[in-house]
Amino acid sequence: MAENANELMDKLVGLAKRRGFIFPSSEIYGGINGFWDYGPLGVELKRNIKEAWWADIVRKRDDMVGLDSTIIMNPRVWEASGHVVNFNDPLVDCKACKARFRADKVFFVLAKDGENALLSAGAEADDDEAARSTATAAANSKTRRRLEDHAESIVWEIHRADKMPDGRKAVCPKCGGELTDARKFNMMFKTFVGALEDSSAVAYLRPETAQGIFANYKNIIDTQRIKIPFGIAQIGKSFRNEINPRNFTFRSREFEQMEIEFFCHPNEADKWYEYWRAERYNWYVGLGLTSAKLRLRDHQKEELAHYARACADVEYSFPFGISELEGIANRTDFDLSQHQKYSGKDLAYFDDETKERFIPYVIEPSGGVDRAVLAFLCEAYTEDTAPDEHGNPQPRTVMRFHPRLAPVKAAVFPLVKKDGMPEAALKIHNAIKAAGITSSYDEKGAVGRRYRRQDEAGTPFCVTVDGLTLQDQTVTVRDRDTLKQDRIAADAVVRYVSERVRA
Ligand code: ATP
Repeated sequence: MAENANELMDKLVGLAKRRGFIFPSSEIYGGINGFWDYGPLGVELKRNIKEAWWADIVRKRDDMVGLDSTIIMNPRVWEASGHVVNFNDPLVDCKACKARFRADKVFFVLAKDGENALLSAGAEADDDEAARSTATAAANSKTRRRLEDHAESIVWEIHRADKMPDGRKAVCPKCGGELTDARKFNMMFKTFVGALEDSSAVAYLRPETAQGIFANYKNIIDTQRIKIPFGIAQIGKSFRNEINPRNFTFRSREFEQMEIEFFCHPNEADKWYEYWRAERYNWYVGLGLTSAKLRLRDHQKEELAHYARACADVEYSFPFGISELEGIANRTDFDLSQHQKYSGKDLAYFDDETKERFIPYVIEPSGGVDRAVLAFLCEAYTEDTAPDEHGNPQPRTVMRFHPRLAPVKAAVFPLVKKDGMPEAALKIHNAIKAAGITSSYDEKGAVGRRYRRQDEAGTPFCVTVDGLTLQDQTVTVRDRDTLKQDRIAADAVVRYVSERVRA
């Protein structure tokens, strides 16, 4: 990770803590690794993302219905889905420093020349590409000279820690110590349902929301007058006992997902896959991830799960590397066929027009709410200058959230705390809140400082009541991004703000 990327992440984590976006969970007890709490600003941002998704995916469409299924389900669900057997990560420990890694996320650069089997430094990152490039960079800077002493021309090879060639051993990327062999580790959290803690009472906290959708597919077909193609959408908590939670909230052990299972005729699956691939990418762009940091990457054939026909990831270039925000996959009829087999229930769809009976194919756009929050935070973070009340430029940190996502939409200030200005400002503040729009009232300190506090929270509009307001009932509205001030009628403020935040 480059120095300035590290620095940016530190600043962002600092701001998130200082302003009440994100706190470590149970912090007064020292926290707990991989768990995070959303403070007053963070919860608004997170809810706005979920509400934007729900509005755009469920409420604005005729071919989608919503669902809210339980976190704990019959454990047979996870046998059918393959999670009991396959939801494993390869785990390695350093025998010397006790650090623990996912072997598939640690990469090593080797000189190909057998005799000079010198290992370079390893790297750990969230996607292969970032891991490979960090490993290569480490090799270039730290061990290249060592390698060059041994061979004139060097051919590089990159290997995963658990797939090293010719019996060569990977070493700890932190201390160079010996690593254990890779062990399989199931990431599902286990619990017991009922009073007895024996194997018959074992249940799992869901590692994804998708299976709740498949388990309810028949209920929805039987109760809703809906025909294929259609989708079922759900937002909810998921839990994964990640070996190495890190990169702030990016890899957490408790997180939220926004998932769609879109059911269609097998002949139309390729078309719907293309549709959702584009649709989901554009959704992030529409909410402000407009920079070149967002990209859509198609999976190579060898990356695909055995049942998947196609998969693409919406990825974001975070300060710690390019990583997945959402995956869009054509999962064929795999999931419904598995549940049909394990439950013994007929999950075929009968088309009463064509009289055809078939198991639908499924297109699954599966995104993480917390990763979306983090991407929107990263994209919004900007340092620039804005004039203070004397017109002198001052450095400021501004969170340029899309108005639809901004945690607080408006702030209302009386210029001074007298002459009826606080009363007039409070009236406007209360009218904004009564319209269901978040507003903050602030009468403390110089107005320039109050603007900067709101800039840091990402508030798009600051309304100031001044001497003129009392004479002609107008106020100024200052735009967070352009710094332009509009003078408008006090009783037009609610409409002004609401038109701009509901876009
Ligand atoms: P990764 O390879 O990063 O572990 P994944 O491919 O296993 O992710 P999926 O199983 O496809 O992820 O889950 C769908 C989405 O859920 C991801 O795109 C991501 O946004 C979110 N997600 C998955 N694991 C986590 C986690 N540990 N913390 C936060 N979000 C997660």
